[in-house]
Amino acid sequence: MEKTVVGRFAPTPSGRMHAGNVFAALMAWLGVRSAGGKLVLRIEDLDPRGHRPEAARLLLDDLQWLGLDWDEGPYYQSQRGDLYVEALHALRERELTYPCFCTRAELHAASAPHASDGTYVYAGTCRNLSAEEVEHRAAKRAPATRLRVPTDDDPAGTIAFDDLVCGRHKEVLARECGDFLVRRSDGVIAYQLAVVVDDALMGVNQVVRGNDLLGSTARQIYLQRLLGYEQPAYAHVPLLVAPDGRRLSKRDLDLDLGQIRARETGPERLLGRLAETVGLVEQGEQIRAAELVERFSWDVLAGDSQRHIVFESV
Ligand code: GLU
Repeated sequence: MEKTVVGRFAPTPSGRMHAGNVFAALMAWLGVRSAGGKLVLRIEDLDPRGHRPEAARLLLDDLQWLGLDWDEGPYYQSQRGDLYVEALHALRERELTYPCFCTRAELHAASAPHASDGTYVYAGTCRNLSAEEVEHRAAKRAPATRLRVPTDDDPAGTIAFDDLVCGRHKEVLARECGDFLVRRSDGVIAYQLAVVVDDALMGVNQVVRGNDLLGSTARQIYLQRLLGYEQPAYAHVPLLVAPDGRRLSKRDLDLDLGQIRARETGPERLLGRLAETVGLVEQGEQIRAAELVERFSWDVLAGDSQRHIVFESV
């Protein structure tokens, strides 16, 4: 028997949804609904600094307005801290993690810049501190926690996967990111760890999200392997950009759902415009989400090496 597809929406409630978020949510929803699967909604409100309480409420309301329904949840990451700490302890017990005392300035000074996206590869500064050194430093500064990744000549640190949209993707962790954070120095669990624990515990086997997270996937797969979790299928969908090439963001107020809902009676126009970008409807056609289910297959995006879709105002 074929496994039921379990997908998820995993928004961070940092502001109102914009057209780009809606596009990714629509693809996640269609990926599940076209397969007769189940959708889980999880609010990623782990970082107390990064979210606004009313944003989560608006997110649920906007998804409902769009006709993008879900079957389970909402779960709130802010209420699931114990589960992440448990996973962190399991990693720590196997000595796969270590405390890192580097300040932001030290990280920038010591780390090798990663050419492709401006992030940094951790230089391993705190990797081999002695127990005395850790004790001495911990008296002055709360450490973050990093996960050791295998050296670049160890095959365990090379992660390859087949993305439903982007095709084969391969990454050597030691070269792309180095030992990465699983817990910040202020105690907040890192996104990479929380998302892996949640996807596994919620039975998610199809992760559909924006292309900006393609670079996180190897780290997440590595964590899944360490924790004994199954690897979901991945589909990283193109990001929407404005005609000048700028990525749409929560600052693009004309494409924010607050603005759109204030001038549109229903979601058909926006959904039509989004569906049109991947050839699911004719130009100018307005449509409801439910009407797209029959027309959708991953082929509309597959082999699409195009990372961006140009999108003008609705
Ligand atoms: N919460 C993340 C975001 O809103 C998405 C996480 C994920 O899909 O893995 O960008």
